[in-house]
Amino acid sequence: MEEAKEKCGVFGIYGKGLDVARLTYFGLYALQHRGQESAGIATSDGERLRARKGMGLVAQVFDEESITNLHGHIAIGHNRYSTTGGSKPEHIQPMLGGKHAFALAHNGNIPSTTALWNYLRMCGDVSEASDSRIVVDAISAAMKKGATLENAVMEVYPFITGAFSILVMGHDRLIAMRDRCGIRPLSIGVIDGKYVFSSETCALQTIGAEYIRDVEPGEMAIADKKGLRSIKLAAADPKFDVFEFVYFARQDSTLLGHPVYEVRKNFGKQLAKERKIKADVVIPVPETAIPTALGYSQATEVPFELGLSKNRYIHRTFIQPEQHLREQGVKMKLTAIPEVLKGKRVVAVDDSIVRGTTSRQIVRMLFEAGAKEVHFLVSSPPVRFPDFYGIDTPRQDQLVAALKSEEETCRYLGATSLQYLTLQGMISAIGVPESKLNTSCFTGRYPIDIGEHASEIVYDDGRNSRTRRKGNTRKDVPRMRNRRLAKRH
Ligand code: AMP
Repeated sequence: MEEAKEKCGVFGIYGKGLDVARLTYFGLYALQHRGQESAGIATSDGERLRARKGMGLVAQVFDEESITNLHGHIAIGHNRYSTTGGSKPEHIQPMLGGKHAFALAHNGNIPSTTALWNYLRMCGDVSEASDSRIVVDAISAAMKKGATLENAVMEVYPFITGAFSILVMGHDRLIAMRDRCGIRPLSIGVIDGKYVFSSETCALQTIGAEYIRDVEPGEMAIADKKGLRSIKLAAADPKFDVFEFVYFARQDSTLLGHPVYEVRKNFGKQLAKERKIKADVVIPVPETAIPTALGYSQATEVPFELGLSKNRYIHRTFIQPEQHLREQGVKMKLTAIPEVLKGKRVVAVDDSIVRGTTSRQIVRMLFEAGAKEVHFLVSSPPVRFPDFYGIDTPRQDQLVAALKSEEETCRYLGATSLQYLTLQGMISAIGVPESKLNTSCFTGRYPIDIGEHASEIVYDDGRNSRTRRKGNTRKDVPRMRNRRLAKRH
């Protein structure tokens, strides 16, 4: 069975008198960084739902005519993140369900769909569905039994066992909900007295909406002709994903009331506290790490320069180059500026190391451009565990930090030195208590059951998360042994 795997951006608006399809298009444009594989918008005019979806970037899927044809006063939109292993048109969201009674857009990941399958079976509705479609089918099955859309969503909610920020649009209402941990973001804004939901606040700014608050973990918020209502569907256990601060979110967004730009700058200042390096220049790996490198530079007085230039037009939809060009790898996207690097002791700052393959090419490129030393600074701790909540980090045996010690990783990268930000340093730079964050890709502590995947995770002592005792302290946080990992895969 395929799992639900959606790493995306969602946007929705309930607004009589507004051009909701066009505003949603602008919202999706602002959320393009959250997914470039496909895009879609669905609208409701009170009687009929319409949808336009396609592969590629928002600008490739929509034109003036398609936006104009999306009539209505409610809209939801979705950008889908590219996953490894190809994509199918039926994965494109929003998905329609209940004989076109509703449309659904999902950001997050449901590591185990067993509860949803059991629910469908109980309804006598065993479907062939995979991924997010199963949530749509479960809501449809509840409606078939006579439930209203709102009641159907409430009935299915407990069976969605994973991370989700979901928008559901019916003929006359727009529903937004988050899992009890609120792992993925979802904000609420107001424009002309009408309600807007967006994965990130940056899209609210784009359309001129004012941010009012987030959809709370465990909350279902409903926008309809009466305004905004809220129903608590689960007791909140907030565990917002730190990786949103580290990599995923746009720097002009605010998460949990903390501006991402400031947090990333704090990462740099914290890195400076943890490691001072005698260097001539500090450069960011564009673009996420720009504020971090600035923070590091300001704290250490090592001059900030742009030593790498990014081609901003290379996206995931980019046609893969021929083999001989592919070997150039990262050079399609990044090129070094020798004038900045020649003969210099360089501090290069990046947000994370996952597989290590890109970082390795970057280090080589910096040396080739004349750098004398390359000190690689990373604004997050080693990623030693895969993500199951919608970030799409690879299997554990592909994570360089799960396979190699920091010293070995440094040698693998070919860097003069390597410095990760400590977990505590990262958390204090964010300014949110650790107990309210999901740090699973760094610590292996998964706040929402990862179901069948638990047996794939290996900890230092060879246990997997099924056999691990409860209530671990940080001291127990595992260091994986290559040998044990190799045996498992
Ligand atoms: P690598 O050296 O191959 O591990 O690549 C590290 C780079 O991947 C960093 O510059 C990150 O900005 C970027 N990165 C981290 N997480 C992701 C993700 N989920 N999807 C795409 N890129 C990512």
